[in-house]
Amino acid sequence: MNFYNEVYKRKDELLEDLRTLCQIPSVFDPSTAKDNQPFGEANRKALDQMLAFGKRDGFITDDCDGYAGSIDIGEGEEVFGILGHLDVVPVNETGWHYPQFDATLDGDRLYGRGVADDKGPLLAAYYAAKIVNEMDFEKKYKIRVIFGCDEENGSSCVKYYFKHRPYPAMGFTPDADFPVVFGEKAMVGFNLTGKIDDEKIISINGGTRSNIVPNNACACLEGSLEDYEESFNAFLKENNATGSITMNNHVVLKVDGRSAHGSVPERGTNAIVLLCHYLHTITDNKLVAFIDDYFYEDTAGKKLGIAHSGALGALTNNLGILNYEDGHINMVLDVRFSNEVDPIKDVVDAVTKKASAYDLAVDYNATPSLYVDPESELIQKLHAAYVDVTNDHEHGPQAMGGGTYAKAMPNCVAFGAEFPGRDNKMHEDDETIVFEELLQSAAVYAQALYNILKK
Ligand SMILES: [Zn+2]
Repeated sequence: MNFYNEVYKRKDELLEDLRTLCQIPSVFDPSTAKDNQPFGEANRKALDQMLAFGKRDGFITDDCDGYAGSIDIGEGEEVFGILGHLDVVPVNETGWHYPQFDATLDGDRLYGRGVADDKGPLLAAYYAAKIVNEMDFEKKYKIRVIFGCDEENGSSCVKYYFKHRPYPAMGFTPDADFPVVFGEKAMVGFNLTGKIDDEKIISINGGTRSNIVPNNACACLEGSLEDYEESFNAFLKENNATGSITMNNHVVLKVDGRSAHGSVPERGTNAIVLLCHYLHTITDNKLVAFIDDYFYEDTAGKKLGIAHSGALGALTNNLGILNYEDGHINMVLDVRFSNEVDPIKDVVDAVTKKASAYDLAVDYNATPSLYVDPESELIQKLHAAYVDVTNDHEHGPQAMGGGTYAKAMPNCVAFGAEFPGRDNKMHEDDETIVFEELLQSAAVYAQALYNILKK
């Protein structure tokens, strides 16, 4: 069976479905949350739409109280799970060259929030399941395509889902990289709080999500333009940065950074950290000092004394959110590291010690690492499917920093859909995927499902 040809025959339909899903701005919105739509109206709408695709195609669907849903495809004693998500991260209002909430085909690429993370890959896997289902062979597993509505905001959707529904025997999540991910770093999310009064600084704000490098930050200061203008402009020049200084009751400083996924903070420029590097020259405020002392030009935790490199890669550290107003501090850090590191002894204790010296209190949430033997049957079969379809013999199973859904169920790993060396700009402006590669990923998924379902 040439799976690519089968996918290609359905490419217009797949694109149409993707456009329909991407036109729903399914960003977590607590203001419209209610019974049966815990993550807001748009996420509920995206869930209804995906369930409608399943019904249209003649499958049995399941709505798990608006947290997640599923489509059952085919017959089999056991269940093989595919775990994707329908929610997306917020968009910046400026910075996009295409409509944020659509799937626009320009040349060979699709653009729009969700085309790569994760609506496109989820649909690619769904189409793959449909193709394999139409093939006449004796199948070991029924396929269950499961889709959550809160992956980008803590994955409470699948936690709820698996509290109320059984685990599939095994599965994959099409929400990361090809060839296949055998390991994912452990994570600690920190919440730092405190109260530090300041005569000069009225507020500092930046960032929207722990897992995004903030691309802008803003400070409100007492005084007049003349107090800061010269030094601020010199600072921008020195750091090769853009920003602005304006007067609006107070002096307002804005600094631009560059966003990137929080698991690869070294690819971005953190606007909060940059702004605090300037503010540290005009104040000895302990919050500003903490940020400048431990985060400036360091996303590897060297200055915090927690740097480490292991089987799953090097430790990363992202300061994702800062809200500092009327002296009240709320700061969010996202730290990811290999399985050899002790989350409490090596990371939490070290950060707590440093933070308390700056009058900051620490609260945290730890997620364990994931490790599936690269020699296991699951990894081997998924990898073989990838090699079969792409003819890429160069790249083997790998580890990564992103925490995917794979951690939500046993015997599950992340599998595609970003190809090696590609940057689909997930979580960034102009999120994109090469349409041809999306079709190719569907072919890889179909080959993988065939390898696994075959008795
Ligand atoms: Zn995702």
